[in-house]
Amino acid sequence: MPHKVVIFDINRWGEEGKQYLAASEKLKAAGVEVAFSDSTLDKDHIPADTNFDIAGVFMVSHVDAATIGALPNLKCIATLTTGYDHIDLAAANARGISVSSVPAYGENTVAEFAFALILALSRKICEARARVRDEGKFTTDGLQGFDLAGKTLGVVGTGRIGKHAVRMGKGFGMKIVAFDVYHDDAFAAEMGFSYLSLEDLLAQSDIITIHCPYLPSTHHLINAKNIGLVKHGAYLINTARGAVVETAAMIGALTSGQLGGAGLDVLEEEAEMKAGEMKGPEHDLIQMPNVIVTPHNAFNTREAAFRILDTTIDNIVAFVNGTPINVVAQ
Ligand code: NAD
Repeated sequence: MPHKVVIFDINRWGEEGKQYLAASEKLKAAGVEVAFSDSTLDKDHIPADTNFDIAGVFMVSHVDAATIGALPNLKCIATLTTGYDHIDLAAANARGISVSSVPAYGENTVAEFAFALILALSRKICEARARVRDEGKFTTDGLQGFDLAGKTLGVVGTGRIGKHAVRMGKGFGMKIVAFDVYHDDAFAAEMGFSYLSLEDLLAQSDIITIHCPYLPSTHHLINAKNIGLVKHGAYLINTARGAVVETAAMIGALTSGQLGGAGLDVLEEEAEMKAGEMKGPEHDLIQMPNVIVTPHNAFNTREAAFRILDTTIDNIVAFVNGTPINVVAQ
């Protein structure tokens, strides 16, 4: 039976990415017809033609049980992301649908973005640009920042991305502390950092950067109960998933000065944001002067995009050949 993949939300990958997928010799050799959709895939965006067995989705596609139920021919979901919390794995498993992800595509990419947010906050880059461009003034009053050297960087989650954050922090002359449910003691010894409890990390860090996945165990890991432990004036960087931080607690801490600022590439309610609804607490966050919000863009470099597309092609071909790879388990 011929296989057909629809890659949803294709505009995200640009014309170059679209052509790359369309011209893939690997997909052609595996007999996979490639189609594209500008839309996301979710219960409100079920395509009229459901005659495809493979769906390529990004994290803005909420592939829930209702979506899966509306796609009778679906046998494989290839998510073009590392995280897969946008897919109802239980519903997919119940239908025997294989779900594969992109476990790694250059972990430096997201860690570099975390440092872009850190430096933008520590050196007031957004304000400095606005001073010159919008105010037409070449002055420095109010633009004093702070050094990273000598400060303590708290890394929550020392997996693939977190390890790069540790290395980059070291490169800036920072002291590193970390929290993870799994301790990589060899890496800690090599890099000269200690694992602490989350509470101690919050209390000691000048900058906290989050690199753990979103799981039931990490839902609101930083919350109203523990945010008061944060060192007064510390900065919080989240490039992982929005719901790892309790939004209301973060807004309270930013308002009181407990948090000096935040750099957020992810928000709890970012699906609504992407749908164009800028309201609620997330809207308040965006307006705060000491907060930088970016639109889940940390992964988005040209090099990373092609690595994501290459792994997705391999995932699809492996599925078609009956030997799926990078399969995510419930
Ligand atoms: P990884 O699996 O290599 O590392 C995750 C680390 O988190 C592991 O060391 C794990 O032990 C740790 N962890 C698990 N549960 C924890 C808990 N309860 N408390 C503390 N630590 C815990 O993952 P990765 O490749 O480093 O990616 C991390 C996350 O970054 C992804 O899950 C994804 O959500 C996010 N991400 C975001 C973007 C973006 O564009 N903003 C891009 C890629 C990944």
